[in-house]
Amino acid sequence: MAMNSMQKRKNKTKLVDRDGLCCHWCRQFYLEDQLTLEHLRPKSKDGSDRIINLCLACPKCNQERGDKPFPLGYTPTWKDIFQLVFLFIFDHGLIEPSSFVDWIEQFQIQN
Ligand SMILES: [Zn+2]
Repeated sequence: MAMNSMQKRKNKTKLVDRDGLCCHWCRQFYLEDQLTLEHLRPKSKDGSDRIINLCLACPKCNQERGDKPFPLGYTPTWKDIFQLVFLFIFDHGLIEPSSFVDWIEQFQIQN
């Protein structure tokens, strides 16, 4: 089910608190209104709307990336790769996410 505009705004506020006013891919700073909600596992690949699957991206990186795992020219870190593996596992219901998600979200705040 798609997010309504209120859910989008709520998620954006949470992501700004978590990640700052900065594009997940190019790390440049933007105004909140310029940043878009990006699904780490794309919606077209059954990625969920859970906060764990969301990040903020500038329009350029969001468009450049499309439904690829990463934008062209982005060098993924091990954290990026593990995150995609975990999200795949959660979205396929192979592990009950609740406790894991809390743990990973704490990890993201600290880093
Ligand atoms: Zn960007």
